[in-house]
This record gives sequence, structure tokens and C-alpha cells, in this order.
Amino acid sequence: MNLPNMIEAKKRNKKEFNVYNYEDVKCVLKNKKYFIRTYGCQMNEHDTEKIKGILESNGFVACENYVDADVVIINTCAIRENAHNKVFGFLGQLKHLKETKKDLVIGVCGCMPQEESVTNELKDKYKFVNFVFGTHNIEDVIKLINESVTSGKQSIEVFSKYGDVCEGFPFKRSNNITAYVDIILGCDKFCTYCIVPYTRGAQRSRSKESIVEEVVNLKKQGFKEVTLLGQNVNAYGKDIYENYTLANLLKDVSDTGIERIRFVTSHPWDFTDEMVCAIRDLPNVMPYVHLPVQSGSNRILKLMGRRYTKESYISLYNKLRSIEGVSITTDIIVGFPGETEEDFNETLDLVNTCKFDGAFTFAYSPRENTPASIMKDQVDEDVKFERLNRLNEVVNKYSNMGNSKYLDKIVNVLVLGKSEKGEDKVMGYTENMKLVNVVGGNELIGQIVKVRITDTKSFSMDGVLAQ
Ligand code: SF4
Repeated sequence: MNLPNMIEAKKRNKKEFNVYNYEDVKCVLKNKKYFIRTYGCQMNEHDTEKIKGILESNGFVACENYVDADVVIINTCAIRENAHNKVFGFLGQLKHLKETKKDLVIGVCGCMPQEESVTNELKDKYKFVNFVFGTHNIEDVIKLINESVTSGKQSIEVFSKYGDVCEGFPFKRSNNITAYVDIILGCDKFCTYCIVPYTRGAQRSRSKESIVEEVVNLKKQGFKEVTLLGQNVNAYGKDIYENYTLANLLKDVSDTGIERIRFVTSHPWDFTDEMVCAIRDLPNVMPYVHLPVQSGSNRILKLMGRRYTKESYISLYNKLRSIEGVSITTDIIVGFPGETEEDFNETLDLVNTCKFDGAFTFAYSPRENTPASIMKDQVDEDVKFERLNRLNEVVNKYSNMGNSKYLDKIVNVLVLGKSEKGEDKVMGYTENMKLVNVVGGNELIGQIVKVRITDTKSFSMDGVLAQ
């Protein structure tokens, strides 16, 4: 049993990390059904693709409803209190199910077990959970199932370490059109509100060769789009190369000829002019940037440890805005400790200046062991939510304005699947990441089609195939 340790998780000593290949382990369970529920970001979704790949290479079959499964795994997120509460709520349902289904095997993984308090709670109060593993132990999933099934005891494997890079996972991709590709794991920024540097270890880049090889293989399999993933993709390469950055990687991935390349998430501090030029000049790098700002107040940005000012953010924003057809979205936190009405108004001013195409907005939620959680002047919940409502009104106004420019225009849409907006519609994304519901049948799925926009809203657009 390995338990998490937040002090170990914070250590950064610039030591070289290990790169190793996934090794197959045979499972003692045969012909079983599994269900995975995933919370959180694209990194977690991609980790779930790895866990599914490992399970399916051992003969497991996915099922739609957790009540039918023999093994249920919850892949958790530690970023916000809300996700935390949902996980424990779902565990309550699973406990109930296990009363009538004694052989049910339950696992918890992802970012939450990296927190000492969570894993101690699972160990002491949730003994019906069979196994627990962290973000550094994905390849151990079969080993942990085997241990817990054969011993009848709870198995826990959560390393709190600098981190390594495991290559060669047997992925089960969620579709065969667009794929996530990890390029950098972990984060060294330690923004004062964020738990990710503790839960996902130090910044570790994958080699450019392994990334390009993965994209080449995806292209051969017929994938149209890749999203290069990392907590901070703009730091790519800094830890392993002297002079090779995200800009160089975008060029090399572009040369594979894959039709669409995206990347997420960007930290403004590491965004260079070369990267702006790469997005502008490489034809298959899509004109879309998610550029979290978090606050428009320099005082709050400093307290957050974000390493940029409102002015330097706007300067970068303007360079990106000069790229033809680009859309830019952001993340904003309201109610950070010490945020005054004046600070909040500066955030509104910044939104009015930038006119983002969209924003993910959040009320600050303290995370245990982060510096911000013990800062003075925590903002009252009702003040946070009142500010969040005011912010959302402004954000939505600009999303709507951004989309309305496309009315009657022709856009290229990569169709990903059926639309929730009607049986006669499919959905997909434009080059600059606008969601479009298109009148058409399933035969369009996987194609890039020309669409004329017939209606626009804040969060999506409607269209018909262009003649
Ligand atoms: S850069 Fe992103 S992931 Fe890293 S600490 Fe800051 S908010 Fe967290």
C-alpha cells in the first residue's frame, strides 16, 4: 500500500524523470463488464481512455449503466468542491448497489486520491471501495483489481512523486475522428489556488518523436483531428530540450498532414511570439486559443501567482486577435480571497476590452493545502455568486456577438456525431471551435463539410449544408 503525501508532492528538484513502456498484466477476472464515470478536464478524459484500453485488452466489455457492471471505476477531479461532492454522492449509490451485488468491484482513481485527506477517508470510512489509485498509477489498475479480489481487502496505490512518463498505453479512444495526444504532463506553475501541481507532479514533456509518431499513427487510422494536451502546453519542451518549444512541435505535427491540430491549455506567461506565428502560419493548426486570464485585477493576479499583468495579457491577446478568423476563450475565477468590488470591476473591464468568444467562469472554491485556501479575506459565498451572475451576463453578451458575425457565412465543420437538437441533425465544430448543429444525417459523421450558418446563439450556431 502506498499512501499520498502532499509535502512529497510539492517537491521539485529538477531531477530527470524516467520514461518507460506500459507492460501488460493479466487480470484474474474474466469476461466481465466495466463502467467508468469521469469527472474533470480533458486530461482526466484522456486518462479514462487509457484505463479503458487496459481493461479492454484484458477482455472487459464496457456497459452503459453502472448497475450492470462488475467493475465500476470513478475517475475523479480535485479542482473544485462541487466535483468532490459528486464523487462521494456516487459512492453512496454504489454502496447501496453493493448490498445486493456482493461481488461488485469498486475503484476510485484520478486527482482526488492524490489528496491525503481523501485517501484517508476512503481507507477509514469507505471500506467497500476495493481499490484506489492516483494519477501516477494508471498502469497499475489490473494489478490493483487482482490484489483486491484475491485478498478481499482494499488496495491503495497512490504515489506522490515528481512523476515519470509511461509510453505505449493501449488506448480505447472515445471516437475515431478526433483524438487527444498528451504532450506534457504535470505543472510547475503553482498558481496559489490550484491543486494540479500537487496531484499531477512536475512538468514532464514527452519526446517530440513519440508525439509525432502517435499523430502519424492516428492519421493512418483515419483520425481527422488531434488535440495536443497538457496543463500548460506552452511550457512544452523546456524540461527536456535546449531549443525546441511548442512552436517547433506545432510545425512537426503540422508536417504529418493531419487535417486539424488543436492544443490546450495555454498559460499566457509561456506564450511566445514564435507560437503566435505558428498558429497564424501553419494551415492545419486551427485558429482557436483557450487563454485563461482568471482576473482583470493586477493585485489579484499577483495574489494568484499568475506571473503576468492585465497589460501583458491584453498585449498577447491583441497579437492573437490579429490572426485571421481566430477565436479566443478564457477562464475567469470570481471571489478569489481579498477580491474587492473594485477588483471585480477590473475583471468586467477586461472582458469588455477583450470581448472573448466564450469564457468558463467559476466562483473561487478553496482547495486544501493550497496557499489561497489559508489567505485572509475569503469572500462570502453570496457575494461570489452575485459577481458570477453579473460576469456571466457580460460574457454571454460577447459570446452571442461573436457568433452573430457568422450569420449567413459559410464555415468548415468537422462533424463529430448526432446532435442533441433533433433527430435530423448532426453536430460538429468549425475551425475556430464554434459548435454548429447541422441539418443532415449520420453519413456526414467524420467528414469536414461546408455549412451555411442560419441562426446563432450564445453557445452554438445552426446551419445547413452549403450548396
Ligand atoms: S498553470 Fe494551470 S494547472 Fe498549473 S498551477 Fe496554474 S492553474 Fe494550475
